[in-house]
This record gives sequence, structure tokens and C-alpha cells, in this order.
Amino acid sequence: LLKNQLITIAIIGSGPAGCAVAHRFLNMLKKASLKKHRIEIKIFDANRQIATGESIPPAASHALHEIGIAQNVFETHLSCSGSQSIWGSNTTGYNDFFHFPEGQGYHLDRALFNQQLKASLKRKNLTFYPNHQLSKVVPESTGYRLYFKESHFLADYVIDASGYSASFSRRIGVARNILDQVISLAIIIKNAPKNMAQQTFVEAVETGWWYLALLPNNQLILSFCSDYEIIKANGYDDIKQWRSLLSQSQLMAKKIPLDIISDNEKIIKRVAPSSILSQVIGQNWLAVGDAASSYDSISAAGITKALQQGIKAGTALFELIENNNQQAFADYQDLVFSDFNRYLKLRYDIYKSETRFSQAPFWSNRFKIKK
Ligand SMILES: Cc1cc2nc3c(=O)[nH]c(=O)nc-3n(C[C@H](O)[C@H](O)[C@H](O)COP(=O)(O)OP(=O)(O)OC[C@H]3O[C@@H](n4cnc5c(N)ncnc54)[C@H](O)[C@@H]3O)c2cc1C
Repeated sequence: LLKNQLITIAIIGSGPAGCAVAHRFLNMLKKASLKKHRIEIKIFDANRQIATGESIPPAASHALHEIGIAQNVFETHLSCSGSQSIWGSNTTGYNDFFHFPEGQGYHLDRALFNQQLKASLKRKNLTFYPNHQLSKVVPESTGYRLYFKESHFLADYVIDASGYSASFSRRIGVARNILDQVISLAIIIKNAPKNMAQQTFVEAVETGWWYLALLPNNQLILSFCSDYEIIKANGYDDIKQWRSLLSQSQLMAKKIPLDIISDNEKIIKRVAPSSILSQVIGQNWLAVGDAASSYDSISAAGITKALQQGIKAGTALFELIENNNQQAFADYQDLVFSDFNRYLKLRYDIYKSETRFSQAPFWSNRFKIKK
């Protein structure tokens, strides 16, 4: 790279991962005593529908503070004091966050959360390109030409933060290894019953597991997670079957009066795969967040991982561009791979701790991959 050359960094995706990379990179650039290059960052986003119903654990607070999200931003979401679960036994277990030094967890208004991340990124050398869906990538001698519907741009460096679709990495031929795939069938209820605790509720049943949480604006999410084949065989993607299954649960049916779920309730289907790209770095590009690796929603760790690894990716990018540190990308890839191995062990231990149904297909399917 020539001194004082203009360097263009394209970030595909403005979710938690993309924003965290931009944040860390620009912060390091601001602090650098000698700026070797002129930098511009372009963040493209297809504005795909934003997921709903996510929560973050106390551990996410540290990463959010690190990228400059102030405490009062947290307060616009719903605090979560912990969880109640029926998992591995017929009695309710409790796990509270009170003893966590980081504080509490939050049930997010996800659209607002994404806006807040973006709003904290207003800088001169950064431009957002909403409604820009990457559709084609052509490698060139000095980088990558990125094609969108009505325009194209040449980028020296590309950050793939496009979520599970891994829109950039997939287009340059990187494979994704899918180790497991759980499907969530969720409904969002607009008027939550009064006096519901601000906790997460989880319940294991023979064919999968339930998740229930209050959301900001007096909404709640109730989701059933299972395998594709089990859902098809039992018709659980039909609201009547879904509700009938709910009526057989212990904890959930106690929390939610069945008559608030109408026959017209829309089931939102989302896949939550355990997956990782075969490589998360390459010539002047890296993948981050769900684009690099995705976790089963039982871990509730996707956003925290996107933020934490986004910070590391931002550092690696700065090290490569400003200090010509070639090792930084390799170190970042090692981190993503070792985090994924740690996650696989955690996932295995969580599913293994449910022993009542270990012979049932949903539960035995979870152990087809090794930890
Ligand atoms: C059922 C379910 C429940 C979950 N629950 C939780 C939870 O409770 N807690 C938690 O922490 N995590 C949870 N997750 C995971 C969490 O949603 C993700 O890990 C997190 O959103 C990843 O952030 P990201 O920035 O990597 O990607 P995303 O948030 O997916 O952002 C990717 C962005 O890229 C854009 N994009 C995609 N394709 C293109 C393209 N071709 N061109 C341009 N832009 C593009 C999209 O519009 C989007 O804005 C859950 C996931 C599922 C499926």
C-alpha cells in the first residue's frame, strides 16, 4: 500500500457484527498517532427483515460499552433478571443474573437495537448504503468489485457481515459446514398477559424445546424449536397443532392462556444452524458474526459473539492496513475457530443435560455431531 493512498473498506451488512467492526477500526484509526492512509468505509445493507425476539446476556454489556454504546441506550430495552426452566427434570430450575458482575441481560427491541448501533457510528469517513443487496462479486487486481442492483463499487477490503447468508464469502466460493440445524417456530403476541416476569422461560419436551420471553412494548415471543422432519410429520407449523402441543407443556401452558393465541396467528419460521465457513479470512477479506459462524439459538449467544468477534475483526483489519501485520488475520481466524469449538462443547453439554428424552429422535439427533 502506498503512503496516503485512499483505501476503501466495504462492509456488507449493518447488523451487530458489521457495526462492531466499523466501530473498532475507526476508534483505532482515531487514536493512531500517524495515519498512513486515507480511509473510507462504505456499509451496504439489503435491509432484509430484522429478526425479533432476541435477548442478550450480561456478558454482552462489556462488548457494547467497548464500542461506545452508553448505558442509557440499554435502558430502552427490557431488562431480564434471569431464567426459569424445566430441563432435565420435572421441577422448575432458576438461574438469575444477580450475581453477574456485568449486570443484567436484556430482551431486545431488535429493530431499535440495530438503529442504535448504526446511530453510534456517525463519522465523516463512513457512509451507509441502505437497500443495497450484494448480488455479484468480481475479484480484481486491487480488490473486489461489488455489484448491487443499480450500482457497483471497487473495494480494497471487504468485510462480510451479511449474516447467515454469507453473501460475499459464498460468492467467492467459500463453503459453509452445517453441523446441525434446529428450526424455530415462533409467534409474537402483541398484548402480553399482565404480571409476567421479565425472565426467559425454557422448557424441554420430547419433540423439542419451548422458549418464552417478554419483549419491549408489551409484546412477547413464544417459540417451539425442533427438527424439520419432526415438524413436518406432526404438522407443528400449523397453528392448531402448535397450540395443541403447547397445551401439553408444563411451564409454558401455565404462563400463557391458550385462548390468547388465535387460529390466525402467524408462525414465523427461522433456522438456527450450528455452522461455520471453511475459512473466515482470505485475500483482503474476512467474514464476521453469523456470516462466519452461526450458533443454535439455545445458546442465546449470537449477538454477543457478533459484537465480540466484530471488535477482534476491527482490530485485525486495522493491524493489516495500518501496520502491515499479516498475522492479524490468521490470529482472528484462529479465534473464530476456537470460539466455535468451545460453543460446540457448550451446546453438547446443554442438550446432554436433558436426560428424560435421550432416546427420542429430537434429542438423539443433537448428538450426531461430536463436541
Ligand atoms: C430463532 C433464532 C433465535 C435467536 N435468538 C437469539 C438470542 O436470543 N440472542 C442472541 O444473541 N442471538 C440470537 N439469535 C442469533 C442472532 O440473531 C444472530 O447471531 C445475530 O443477528 C448475528 O448478527 P450479525 O450482525 O452477524 O448478522 P445479522 O444480524 O443477520 O445482520 C446481517 C445484515 O446483513 C444484511 N444482508 C444480508 N444479505 C445481504 C446482502 N446480500 N447484501 C447486503 N446486505 C445483506 C441483512 O440485511 C442484515 O442487516 C437467534 C437466531 C435465531 C435464528
